[in-house]
Amino acid sequence: MRSNQFRRGTLAVLLSTVLFSMSVASLSAQQEPSSVDPELIADLVAANHILVAEGVLDGYGHVSVRHNRNPSHFFLASSLAPQLVTANDILEFDLDSTPVESTTRALYSERFIHSEIYKVRPDVKAIVHNHSPSVIPFGVSSVPLKALYHMAAFIGEGLPVFDIRNAGGLTDMLVRNSELAAALARSLGNQGAVLMRGHGAAVVGSSLPVVVGRSVYLEINARLQAQAMTIGGTITYLHPEEARKATDLDDYKRAWDLWKRKVVKK
Ligand SMILES: [Zn+2]
Repeated sequence: MRSNQFRRGTLAVLLSTVLFSMSVASLSAQQEPSSVDPELIADLVAANHILVAEGVLDGYGHVSVRHNRNPSHFFLASSLAPQLVTANDILEFDLDSTPVESTTRALYSERFIHSEIYKVRPDVKAIVHNHSPSVIPFGVSSVPLKALYHMAAFIGEGLPVFDIRNAGGLTDMLVRNSELAAALARSLGNQGAVLMRGHGAAVVGSSLPVVVGRSVYLEINARLQAQAMTIGGTITYLHPEEARKATDLDDYKRAWDLWKRKVVKK
């Protein structure tokens, strides 16, 4: 039953990828910045601050959102600690991770993570790259991270682990170019996140609230799983069907409204 659902999901992703490629091709000549919903930029700034407040980002890591009108562009801050990001620091990029307007600002060296995932995942509207501390051990251990509770049901039966050594040999561990980022995007496949061995994770979602919620609860799930393993005994993880049903339900809207209220200054 699950494999049928998976095949249907895969077909849907393939079809949307073809349609998406056609729409990107028609927009590829469009390099000028196009009008953006100011609310989207405000939410992106809030997402930066929320992820710091919730312990997912520190001085490093970044969050982006796809352009609301041009799917071949996305928004990401210039190279700053996420807590310091304001609306004035948000830049528009194309899918080669080149800023649409020339800038002298420093750019995140790992911005290619965003562009390469947006290229191949039309369903993805927002991406977080983090060094989420409790998740790191599961990227280096043979023990897989699994969906322990409903709030992180998107983990499903487990998440892929990207080992940069397989893609680029012995590097400085950073995803510094489009080749390494394309390999990361291949590891991600059609999942909601990919762990990065010895580094962190890339989390994707259909909106900023979803990607922020997934990032926060991925961190918490990792912490809880380590605690459950310390207790010992047999751990009962979510059944794949339970995980699927819980994932379909959760848009993290209530949590997002709370988190946003806490970080947005009145
Ligand atoms: Zn990183």
